[in-house]
Amino acid sequence: MSIKHYDLLAIGGGSGGLSAAERAALHGKKAAVIESGRMGGTCVNVGCVPKKVMWNAAGIAHSLRDAQGYGFDVMLNHFDWSHLVSGRDDYIKGINDWYGTYLKDSDVDVIHGQARFVDAHTLEVDGKRYSADHIVIAPGGVPMVPAIPGAEHGITSDGFFALKEQPKRIAIVGAGYIAVELAGLMRALGSEVDLLLRGQHFLSSFDPMLRESLMEEMLNDGVNILPNISINEVIKGEDGHLSLHAQGGHQLTGFDCLIWAIGRAPNTMDLNLESAGVAMNERGYIPTDEFQNTNVPGVYAVGDVTGRAQLTPVAIAAARRLGDRLFNNQPERKLDYENIPTVMFSHPPIGTVGLSEDEAREIHGDAIKVYQTRFTPMYHAMTPHKTKTAMKLVCVGAKERIVGIHMIGHGVDEMLQGFAVALKMGATKKDFDDTVAIHPTSSEELVTMR
Ligand SMILES: Cc1cc2nc3c(=O)[nH]c(=O)nc-3n(C[C@H](O)[C@H](O)[C@H](O)COP(=O)(O)OP(=O)(O)OC[C@H]3O[C@@H](n4cnc5c(N)ncnc54)[C@H](O)[C@@H]3O)c2cc1C
Repeated sequence: MSIKHYDLLAIGGGSGGLSAAERAALHGKKAAVIESGRMGGTCVNVGCVPKKVMWNAAGIAHSLRDAQGYGFDVMLNHFDWSHLVSGRDDYIKGINDWYGTYLKDSDVDVIHGQARFVDAHTLEVDGKRYSADHIVIAPGGVPMVPAIPGAEHGITSDGFFALKEQPKRIAIVGAGYIAVELAGLMRALGSEVDLLLRGQHFLSSFDPMLRESLMEEMLNDGVNILPNISINEVIKGEDGHLSLHAQGGHQLTGFDCLIWAIGRAPNTMDLNLESAGVAMNERGYIPTDEFQNTNVPGVYAVGDVTGRAQLTPVAIAAARRLGDRLFNNQPERKLDYENIPTVMFSHPPIGTVGLSEDEAREIHGDAIKVYQTRFTPMYHAMTPHKTKTAMKLVCVGAKERIVGIHMIGHGVDEMLQGFAVALKMGATKKDFDDTVAIHPTSSEELVTMR
């Protein structure tokens, strides 16, 4: 059997794999990406991109609600779910197609099919073998479904993006950002939404100010948030409606859609990693050192499969830096996993970077100082429905270096990026105070806090 040889092979045509192959090709190396599904991976097909389109639609629904306060006599007759979904899917198809030409122009080969290791330098795809000096594992993850009777009547976030009709009454089970985002946008688009939490809170790793403010806003928006519910059975009735049976005898009935958003598992089951000797941890993630090296020389892992900061820009940044290190003579190039900014596309959105107040207190004790504000943004001066904005700066030491910035409210999704640069550069509270405010905005509060 003849084996085609590459400098670099990437398993997975998502954010991480594509970036690794592109960067290798940019440095003049022969690279290929192996993808079993649609090009672009989770982010493009069933993650960030379709989610953001839906979030935009939900934002328009809120603007329409607010419009009367500004004097518009808006009469809304109908919201056409299928129009939104088909427009969204066309947009995504355009991105999928664009990748085809882009990769060709970039001199990256595309191999369609499921990759499996034969040994540390050889992969098999649909019976054909390919070898490489360097193999980057970037297969991402898959949504989890609980092992309870009737779980198959529910869908996951993947199934959510395939819905052809808008559910009228949805149960969303989960306490992470995907559960919260889907709950918020579906409520804004007019569905009745129950958000079922196993514990008391959602977003447990976020600063408490964020999750408490968001909980209040979601309740005001009419999301039915039910804490301490542990589902142990799902039953589909003859009318097609779902009933959820929970521990303690609770029963919730009448749902036409159930979404499991209880976490994601790494996509490592079918890679035959054993034959390459690549180690996984007990949850199936592939541990790497700070340079994305696995335990096997020449084999690397990037993106969600590493279990660290599962975000698109993280997968991209780690893969690009790996390509620079391997092929552009930059031996120390690596991603700094500290202070990664992130936005949650809830209603209103959350923007956060750095340490939460609790984390900072644990590390720095009494050396921390917290500045906080909460206000109704000017936009809502004219609207009957009002949402609050809340902001927090966590500072450390005599110089009050800013180690955490946390915000929730209208517009914070676009506000955070620049402030994250400042935090990463080591800005102090005085630097913020010395910056002239932009008026009238919500962001000016960040440089005027007392
Ligand atoms: C609902 C949702 C919303 C999200 N929203 C955001 C957001 O707003 N912002 C953000 O930054 N991140 C978001 N994410 C996370 C983001 O999508 C991931 O962090 C990112 O896609 C990870 O990239 P990756 O390259 O590790 O894996 P993926 O993008 O998952 O790509 C992996 C690819 O590998 C392929 N594959 C797997 N196994 C094999 C194999 N053996 N052979 C060949 N191909 C294989 C898969 O088909 C897939 O296309 C969201 C995720 C979800 C699920």
